[in-house]
Amino acid sequence: MNIHEYQGKELLKRYGVTVLDGYVARTPEEAEAAAKKLPGPVVVVKSQIHAGGRGAGRFTDDPNGKGGVRVVKPEAAKEAAAAMIGHTLVTKQTGPEGKVVNQVYVEAGCDIKRELYLSLLVDRETSRITVMASTEGGMEIEEVAENHPEKILKVAVDPASGLYPWAARKLAFGLGLEGKQVGVFTKFVSAMYDAFVNLDMAIVEINPLVVTGAGDVVALDAKVSFDDNALFRHKDIEALRDDSEMDPKELDAVKNDLNYVALDGEIGCMVNGAGLAMATMDIIKLYGSSPANFLDVGGTANAERVTEAFRIITSDVNVKAILVNIFGGIAKCDMIANGIVEASKALTLKVPLVVRLEGTNVDLGKKILAESGLAIIPADNLADAAQKVVDAVKKAA
Ligand code: ADP
Ligand code: MG
Repeated sequence: MNIHEYQGKELLKRYGVTVLDGYVARTPEEAEAAAKKLPGPVVVVKSQIHAGGRGAGRFTDDPNGKGGVRVVKPEAAKEAAAAMIGHTLVTKQTGPEGKVVNQVYVEAGCDIKRELYLSLLVDRETSRITVMASTEGGMEIEEVAENHPEKILKVAVDPASGLYPWAARKLAFGLGLEGKQVGVFTKFVSAMYDAFVNLDMAIVEINPLVVTGAGDVVALDAKVSFDDNALFRHKDIEALRDDSEMDPKELDAVKNDLNYVALDGEIGCMVNGAGLAMATMDIIKLYGSSPANFLDVGGTANAERVTEAFRIITSDVNVKAILVNIFGGIAKCDMIANGIVEASKALTLKVPLVVRLEGTNVDLGKKILAESGLAIIPADNLADAAQKVVDAVKKAA
């Protein structure tokens, strides 16, 4: 789950990470009031959307205008906010359709001396939290990784010992920090690590991390993402979820406890278990088509969840056919079959439906489908199912 910059900064601040003062504003008037509370001589009005590249982004109704992050005099904050709130911002990360800005963050202006990069993430290769730092702040880290991999410094943290000060100092020296900045940076990284571990973050990216004219180290941007599987123990963080930022189908899935990811292909997949979902997507590709989604109804699939899953899949206009691939373990095939029949009736499916069932009570499940009178295409195994669903899409085209 992602949150907004202003929310991320608020959380990081609680752990001792240095951020500038700022206020979120949902109207131009609120932005004006916020700017008055800040020291000046300039303030920064920042569009709050779940995407980076805002500074270099452009608004759809003002393609040649200024970006989604503007440094202005306090008296111009209202106007800047009015140009952002309710308008659609397109950045490198939003896709061409952009995202509507519903709020801005009005932050104190910063006297930037150097822009650096810092992030913490879970590195799956080493199974450790890894701190990444670079002197190339403000640029996209993917670009730095591609063109100047030597400019990315990495430290993997042993979970038993936590982040050693010497490891943080090593990064500080690598970034060219000197004197008291080394200690300041070490404290900064250690506060970030505490926040990361305690709040079950998946990634936190500070780009840029700046060194100010006065020698302070400040998080000027904050992109924070949490491990969804740990949200149950952070109800306050779960409450920060901004529904308007999510794909409506993905939101629907979250609310129904389904694992759903929208993709750009044409075959809707309903599967139980993430491994089976991956295998199903692979074999669809192998047979020459591509999945429209990844939908895992989970091991405890029941009729309601199956119906909900169908509702989400069929609401996607790109879906040309549906493949249901269920391995009945705890979930029994007859129950799944009943769910499919009920859902197909309730939703009057307009696209071909291929079903492959295997496992507990499979014969009963197949019988229920066969006797339902619905135009369900049964399949005997994964390859057969993939072939049939791809054929069905081609026939429909
Ligand atoms: P994004 O990464 O989405 O473009 P940032 O928060 O990184 O947004 O802001 C873009 C740039 O704007 C920063 O690299 C920095 O140069 C400048 N900037 C952001 N916040 C401030 C601030 N409070 N004071 C001065 N400049 C800022
Ligand atoms: Mg940034």
